[in-house]
Amino acid sequence: MHVVVLGAGLVGVASAWYLRQDGHEVTVVDRQPGAGRETSFANGGQISTSHAEPWANPGAPARVLRWLGREDSPLLWRLRADPAQWAWGLRFLRECAPGRTRRNIVAILRLALHSRALLKELRPALGLEYDQQARGILHFYTDAAEFAHALPQAELMRRYGCERVVKSAEECLAIEPALADTTVPIIGGTYTADDESGDAHKFVVALAERAAGLGVTFRYGRQVARLNLAGDRVTGVGLDNGERVVADAYVAALGSYTPLLLRPLGVHLPVYPAKGYSVTIPLAADSPAPTVSLTDDGRKIVFSRLGNRLRVAGTAEFNGYDTSINAVRCAAIVRRTATLFPRLDVGRDIEFWAGLRPATPSNVPLIGQTRLKNLYLNTGHGTLGWTMACGTGHVLADLLSARRPPIDPAPYAPR
Ligand SMILES: Cc1cc2nc3c(=O)[nH]c(=O)nc-3n(C[C@H](O)[C@H](O)[C@H](O)COP(=O)(O)OP(=O)(O)OC[C@H]3O[C@@H](n4cnc5c(N)ncnc54)[C@H](O)[C@@H]3O)c2cc1C
Repeated sequence: MHVVVLGAGLVGVASAWYLRQDGHEVTVVDRQPGAGRETSFANGGQISTSHAEPWANPGAPARVLRWLGREDSPLLWRLRADPAQWAWGLRFLRECAPGRTRRNIVAILRLALHSRALLKELRPALGLEYDQQARGILHFYTDAAEFAHALPQAELMRRYGCERVVKSAEECLAIEPALADTTVPIIGGTYTADDESGDAHKFVVALAERAAGLGVTFRYGRQVARLNLAGDRVTGVGLDNGERVVADAYVAALGSYTPLLLRPLGVHLPVYPAKGYSVTIPLAADSPAPTVSLTDDGRKIVFSRLGNRLRVAGTAEFNGYDTSINAVRCAAIVRRTATLFPRLDVGRDIEFWAGLRPATPSNVPLIGQTRLKNLYLNTGHGTLGWTMACGTGHVLADLLSARRPPIDPAPYAPR
């Protein structure tokens, strides 16, 4: 079968990889000059099954209200005259119910664990190098209420196969001694030894190269303008240069932009952009920067050592498709980094970046066939698109090849 994958981010490239493994002829189309140039470019770098708790949880509505209008808050909702934003917000509120949060954690966790296992197989098999660190992820807490909130979530995750173990403050410092200098006391944490980190952009470029080596065609620098339709089937993809690409099946993996392309076909998706920021700090050879990947859960910030760089990323801002860099929000990330690691030189040559997470209200992605017979989705991976990349590509390839995936695909089925 000839399959066209729309989008060469982490999700599109992983889909192309596994589709090719199944023997399909695969063409990938992306408007950028290479793979992973949009949201997959400078993310937090974490392969974090332990981060399966979505933003939509019982504590979220109070937090969002408290932070409303605060320019430097971890989660900022900018009210817009945008029906898509309001509809998404209402669905987000519904997902904050305890039962739904639990169900969403389990769905995310199953996919994330499957994905992490695949990544651990793929890396040595293909000899992939992407500044990876297999030293676990430590969630730490500087706020007692946040720590108390995390404990039942960690227990739930342990029950479903993620070994997220509770640690005392002393144990946290033993896991990552760089935290010893912090000027805000650590109350406690949780540690997941099998979680990992690495440079997602380096990974996706390397995987795209390997896929090209196996015959996958990449059409870069081409904007997808429209999908053509006849009855309940897509008949082709119209590109910005007037060209038409025709295939047997189509996979929409355009991240936050997927709903915009599919809306004219009557396929409406609950995916909304959640802007996040990252700060990349160059490190000297003897830098006191952390080497274990860290999550400062209360502030929604993560830290990953990527070779001679420290990537600090996080926070969320709901403000449509605006990708401009807000100096106040970046300064808040830098300030927090300096508070936690006072011996770190965060002053010079730092790079700021913003990306739009393709967020569903539940943070559970949409994988599988739409009401159009030959149009498949692989989108909506929100905060965990790097963590779920291999797994989501694998599940999609199974569904497209009419095979039963190793995990139940029902929670991700587009409705
Ligand atoms: C600040 C931040 C930190 C994060 N940290 C982590 C983390 O630590 N761990 C983790 O697991 N996840 C993290 N994420 C989330 C993760 O980066 C995303 O979920 C993931 O990158 C989404 O991948 P994607 O392939 O769906 O989308 P994208 O990477 O955005 O790919 C979509 C592709 O579609 C292309 N495209 C869009 N529209 C068109 C069109 N009309 N025509 C042609 N091409 C088009 C784009 O060029 C792009 O290449 C983070 C995100 C952010 C913003």
